Amino acid sequence: MTAAFSTTLPPEKLSFFNDPQTGLRAIIVVHSTALGPAAGGTRFWPYDDRESATRDALRLAAGMTYKNALAGLPFGGGKAVIMRPSDEFDRTALFAAYGRAVDSLGGSYLTAEDVGTTVSDMQAVRTMTRHVAGLPSDGAAAGGDPSPWTALGIFLSMQHAVERILGTTLEGRTVAIQGVGNVGMGLARLLHEAGAKLIVADGAMTRTEKCTELFGAQVVAPEALLSVEADVLAPCALGAVLNEASIARFNTKIICGGANNQLATPQDAKRLAERGILYAPDYLVNAGGIINVVAENLQESAAAVEMRVRKIPERLAQIFDVSERSGLSPAVVADDMARAIVADAGIRVPTVAAAPLDESQHAA
Ligand code: NAD
Repeated sequence: MTAAFSTTLPPEKLSFFNDPQTGLRAIIVVHSTALGPAAGGTRFWPYDDRESATRDALRLAAGMTYKNALAGLPFGGGKAVIMRPSDEFDRTALFAAYGRAVDSLGGSYLTAEDVGTTVSDMQAVRTMTRHVAGLPSDGAAAGGDPSPWTALGIFLSMQHAVERILGTTLEGRTVAIQGVGNVGMGLARLLHEAGAKLIVADGAMTRTEKCTELFGAQVVAPEALLSVEADVLAPCALGAVLNEASIARFNTKIICGGANNQLATPQDAKRLAERGILYAPDYLVNAGGIINVVAENLQESAAAVEMRVRKIPERLAQIFDVSERSGLSPAVVADDMARAIVADAGIRVPTVAAAPLDESQHAA
């Protein structure tokens, strides 16, 4: 997966954990603790080798620093990847060993779910450390499935973008959603309630059928979705979906969706602007999930999460304002703002700056 994200700040700490007994091979990157403990999920993926896993962890951790800063959270950025073993393994034991790895960082890293990890994995992690979130909640407390919060942040951001560009509410507007999984489905529900018309695509037919049944959505093939005529396009499936080839085909005025790392390259932000398409930076509008994760760690209520998520469009408005005044794309303005927030927090003292791969190995 490619990403436009700038990783100009080196990470504070890069750690490798190997546990031959359970097959655990994990990499944890504490990118920045300038604003607080580094928060970010754990990806469980069949990487080809440790180098590609490390690259992914470094890139994702830097992204979390920017995301958490822009969301106004008292947390820095970090991320972990676990290389999925190719042989058979005991999943609970592996995640418990990973919990020991997280615990060894003494609270400088807070983990939760990401691609390939589940609530039950985090429950196994919890047996060894308290520095984990994404655990079941009773509804009044923060915690549990983050995707409804992610969907709400995207919906509110979209409302703002539509008002700004089209001067109307979402009622009667057409929104095309790529991917109606956890986030896309939640977004579809909110849009339907707001009176928007939906066009959806997903490889999983059961999901698109559900959208038609519940929200009257029109279904198109995944390859057709990116060129349908719509007021807003909401990428809620894959990264790198905004690229030279796709941007040339877009038939929309606004891009606002939940997928991470939507821009394939930094030049694609410029390409969107040149075509007059307003891009809502992905890591700002999809911050609802991480807002829920850190609130759980702080033992806050669901009401506190909602309050923070409702602030996302305010930040988006600031970004669009600066973008209009400066002529810089919203993506560049968002990165600049995030960097300034981190820089204002104080001087970072890197403990291990981008250590060579064989240094700082630990057994979990
Ligand atoms: P998900 O796996 O539940 O849903 C993704 C959906 O996209 C699936 O239904 C899948 O079939 C579909 N899909 C895959 N390729 C497609 C294609 N080419 N065309 C159309 N549909 C396709 O994942 P999710 O939790 O809904 O997350 C969606 C995106 O949002 C991901 O990029 C994720 O990293 C990002 N995100 C999620 C959260 C969260 O709270 N879950 C938070 C922040 C960011």
